[in-house]
Amino acid sequence: MVDLKGQYEKIKQEVNAGIQEVIDSTTFIKGGKVTEFQRHLEEYLQVKHVIPVGNGTDALQIALMALGLQPGDEVIAPTFTFIATAEVIALLQLTPVLVDVDPHTFNITPEAIRRAITPNTKAIIPVHLFGQNAAMEELLQLAAEHKLYVIEDACQSIGARYTFSDGRVVQSGCMGHIGCTSFFPSKNLGCYGDGGALFTNDDVLAKRIRSIANHGMETRYYHDHIGVNSRLDSLQAAILDVKLNYLDSYIDARRRAADYYDRAFAGHPSLEIPVRQPGSEHVFHQYTLQLKHADRNQLIDYLKTKGIPAMVYYPVPVHQQKAYRSDRYRDGDFPVAEQLSASVLSLPMHTELRTEQLDYITQSVLHFF
Ligand SMILES: *Cc1c(COP(=O)(O)O)cnc(C)c1O
Repeated sequence: MVDLKGQYEKIKQEVNAGIQEVIDSTTFIKGGKVTEFQRHLEEYLQVKHVIPVGNGTDALQIALMALGLQPGDEVIAPTFTFIATAEVIALLQLTPVLVDVDPHTFNITPEAIRRAITPNTKAIIPVHLFGQNAAMEELLQLAAEHKLYVIEDACQSIGARYTFSDGRVVQSGCMGHIGCTSFFPSKNLGCYGDGGALFTNDDVLAKRIRSIANHGMETRYYHDHIGVNSRLDSLQAAILDVKLNYLDSYIDARRRAADYYDRAFAGHPSLEIPVRQPGSEHVFHQYTLQLKHADRNQLIDYLKTKGIPAMVYYPVPVHQQKAYRSDRYRDGDFPVAEQLSASVLSLPMHTELRTEQLDYITQSVLHFF
């Protein structure tokens, strides 16, 4: 699905030099490298504060902690997502209020959010799934009307720019109150271990987030909040600082691969290609097809015989997961998400896909039908 080795080979000298520099300095935690990467990412995103943390799940948890929500407060999130989005809500004893998604973009919709808002609603977590921003303009308006916080799960969408109707262009994760991302190796900006970050333009929230991520401490050994220990280490920061320079070219490579797939599959009676929303750049963390009247398992098995991996993201929506079943929801409540879980298929998507490989993959898929 990814080719991290091929990608590394092209930047090996720079990455190795960065790693060596950290080892020579022996500042493995909170070194200058972390601050340098933070500054460079702030510049890239045009956001006031980047707060690096241990991983994307921690980023989401810390974001919710920073808002000072109380047990029982409701947080709206899509049911078609990676589990971390809902997990952190439940973990903090807040109430996850799940909603259905759009059948073409796979993203949360303002209409579904509107129907789910109650007097207990405090926040919304839109997930920019597979690398495409949710309908943020309408969503932010709705959130403002109801005085709700917006935490963007931008773990799959770093670098995806969103154009508002007044012409403003804003980076994914920098539109709401707080944005969260992951630097897991296979993410669009991935390190060589775990990593994550929060983004915010709010000085007060930034200060609280920094403190919570560091044991709730502002002055050393004085703890103002109950916090956690979550940090990006200097080795990962050194790797990310190199890779950030290539992020735009990595996004271009993914978009070119997606264009190739689109051309091969457009109009096919059994395949729906991913929809690209005008005004929202798709950075293709995943290239995800919907199968129509086709046996997904047979296709996966067929591709396997050809040496082609294909994955289902995600086979079970959150409301149907064992740990998240509740009296609130029944099977059939979220028909779009349930239908997507049964019909989506993601093909190999990464920065190193060569034309021969794309040709082989598309020919194999078409040959199956
Ligand atoms: C990867 C991911 C996360 C979690 O990131 P980790 O760094 O693995 O903790 C959260 N939400 C979404 C949508 C993701 O894709």
